Amino acid sequence: MTLNVIILRHAKMKISGIVAMDAFNPTPPAWVKKATHALQFCCPSCLARTDSAQSVWLNRSALVIREDNLRKWQEFYQCSCGKAWWAWNTDRPPLDSSLFN
Ligand SMILES: [Zn+2]
Repeated sequence: MTLNVIILRHAKMKISGIVAMDAFNPTPPAWVKKATHALQFCCPSCLARTDSAQSVWLNRSALVIREDNLRKWQEFYQCSCGKAWWAWNTDRPPLDSSLFN
């Protein structure tokens, strides 16, 4: 599966067109600069999961192909509480990654 297909499926998860357009934009949105690395795959401030995020942006320019052929990239989320955070897609919990299959 190509990354573009994954992004397409990700965009379909969100009803809002604004969120989908943000995810496709090759230029990082301004809020991405303030994002902090979340060690858990949820908002480090209020612990909300990604389905309540206001915006999502995927860093396609920093795609990493691992030795086991797994593609790794940064997923940026702007939480509804205002906190911006990012995590590796590979850190996504199994329940979330089932949405991509
Ligand atoms: Zn939050």
